[in-house]
Order: sequence, then structure tokens, then C-alpha cells
Amino acid sequence: MKKEHIYLDYNASAPIIPAALEVMGDILSAKNFAYNASSIHHFGQIGHRYIETARKKVANLVDANKDQVIFNSGATEGNNTILLYFANKYPNETILITQAQHPSIMEALNILDNVKTVPVDKNGLVRLDILEEVLSNNSKVSLVSCTYANNETGIIQDVRAISNLAHKYGALLHCDGVQAVGKIPVSMIKDGIDFLTISSHKIGGAQGAGALISSICGQTPFLLFGGGQEKYMRSGTQNIAAIASFGVASYYALKNIEQYRKDITDLRYYLESRILEISSDIIIHGKNVSRIPNTSFFYINGINAQNILMALDLENIAISNGSACSSGNVKPSNTLKSMGYDEEIASNSLRISIGWATKKSDIDIFLMALEKILNRIAKRSK
Ligand code: PMP
Repeated sequence: MKKEHIYLDYNASAPIIPAALEVMGDILSAKNFAYNASSIHHFGQIGHRYIETARKKVANLVDANKDQVIFNSGATEGNNTILLYFANKYPNETILITQAQHPSIMEALNILDNVKTVPVDKNGLVRLDILEEVLSNNSKVSLVSCTYANNETGIIQDVRAISNLAHKYGALLHCDGVQAVGKIPVSMIKDGIDFLTISSHKIGGAQGAGALISSICGQTPFLLFGGGQEKYMRSGTQNIAAIASFGVASYYALKNIEQYRKDITDLRYYLESRILEISSDIIIHGKNVSRIPNTSFFYINGINAQNILMALDLENIAISNGSACSSGNVKPSNTLKSMGYDEEIASNSLRISIGWATKKSDIDIFLMALEKILNRIAKRSK
């Protein structure tokens, strides 16, 4: 009998929730007509309504006003937009990016001038003392960019503290909120965020939609020019089906956030306690600091992560060794390296990320398979 597939890689992409799929079906099954939200006719108006409904829901999720939400294709675009906009607008000022971020931020170091990094400590937390030192030593910093919750470790930053420092020295704060929103409460206002990047497919909406949300700071970041959609801040025909699904996913993420936190925290606790029973020679990254509830990133002494991933894949179990964006292209984890781990650990850690459809039985099946694989490896090396 073919084994069922177990999917434990939600941070790469979460399965779409049924209600989000339903709204996409309504939109995409339109026959002999199409919705373009910029058209004046009946179908354009329907498209426009879908987008404006989604805008309100996405805004609610992050405690923003709907007029602040600019839809785009996802977080890579959002992150690029903000960095390129500030680099172009203030060419003589510095952009500070904190370490342990997604490549759509970190690559700015190779692409843009005047970008500097601020390190994280061994727990993956931004060194606030160094941030303050760099801010005070640079004549002008236009933007500080940090990540709310890391995609590999799940470690949560003290965004309010980072924001306070940025604002104290006259800089604005951009935050990549992709892995935090929908998992923990995120508030543009309480957290002091000027620009927030989020992505639909990480919270149960479709791939291909995201948003860059700006506070009322007077900046109008844009990357693409053209037809003037999204208040001239993101030209290009809107992806109505994906945006509508994003709205629906945001609505449910907010509605269920407390239950999610409880259920998913319990499941991760179960997962990590059992892993520690299977092998005590384990480092769970970020175990002693705040993490989003769904992520567990760990290193089992002596294992080769790639071999474990492949062995699990043969058992129909999907997990990751960190950032999916560079998978197929196995590189040591940049996040772990910036936390001071050596190549061995940075290359051989395993990430489990769970979510709305994960069951305890999925975790049990994973644990059984992991134990079997580790026993096989142990026997072979005797
Ligand atoms: N930032 C973080 C923290 C992410 O996890 C990801 C997706 N791996 C991105 C940005 C890029 O998002 P998208 O896939 O929407 O471009």
C-alpha cells in the first residue's frame, strides 16, 4: 500500500486553506469573461471588489489601515522594492540590514552600495548595542531592515526595541514579517514598523501574492512603473484570484490565532520532547528564546542532513534543511553561521515546520521514520 504523504515544510509554503481555494475557484472559473480590477465595466468592478475586500482583511491581520496595503507578487518583491527604493532615493545614506535574514534582503549586500550589516548574537537576536553604535557612528542611516521571525529557526526579534533605536536616530524601520504574521500577533502600530513585507503562501493563501504595507510616514515606495495600479505604487494587473485568497487566508489566520498558538505549540512541544528521547545528542536552535510556535530547527550530532532528507523523502515525508529558497542548492545555513555555528552544524541541521493541517499522527509517523533511519545509520557505522 502506498504510504500517505506527510508534509512538514510549512515555512517553505503552507497548504492552501479550503476557503481560500474556494474563492480562487469562483474567480478562475469565470467563463467567457475575465476580471481586471482596472476595467470600468461590470467585470472590472467585481474584480475591484474582490481586491478591496482582501485589502481590508490583510490590513486587519497586521493592525494597519487598508489604504496602507499595496499588493504585489510576494515577499521577495516587497523586500526588493523597499531596499531599491531607499537606495535610489537616498544614495548618500546608509541602509542597515540585520543578519540572519532571507536572501531577498541579504543579497542587497552584493547588489547595492552603502548597505551595512548588524550582527546577531549566539541566540540569533539582533545585537541592539551594536545597532545603536552603528546608528550613532553613521552620519545618516535612511533605513533599518530586520526580520520579525527567522524562516529557519523561527526566532522572534524584539522588533519594538529595534524600531525605537532606528527612530531615535532618524531612520525608518522595514520589517520582513513573512514568517511571523498569522502565527503570532503582529501590529504595525505597537511594533513601530514603518514598512512590513508579507506573503500569501506562508499563511494558507495562494502563491504569487503578497503585500508591502507602509505606515503613514510619507514615503511611497515603488519598484515597477506602468499602468498606475495600487495607487502608482505597484503597476501591473493585479493577480485577483491570488489576492482574494490572501484576504481569506488573512481573515482565518487572525480569527484562529489563539487556537493556532495553543495547538501548534503543543504539537511542537511533543515533537521536540520525542526527538530528545530518540537522541539526546541534539541542539535545538533557539530553544531558549522566543520562537514562532510552528518551527523546530535542530542538529543531531554526526548526521548528514542531506541523507536524512532523502531517506525521509523515500518514506513520503517532506521536511527541509533550512531555507527552501536555496534548496536543490545545498548551502550551509546563513542564519546558523551568523549565530556562530560551524559549517558542520550549519550544513546539517533539519527543519520541521508545521501548520493548520498537521496532525499528531503526522508527527508520530515522522518520528518513527526518523528513528528507523538513525538506527540504520548507527548499525552501518558499527
Ligand atoms: N522572507 C522570508 C522570511 C521568507 O521565509 C520568504 C520565503 N521563503 C521570503 C521572504 C520570500 O517570500 P516569497 O516566496 O513570497 O517571495
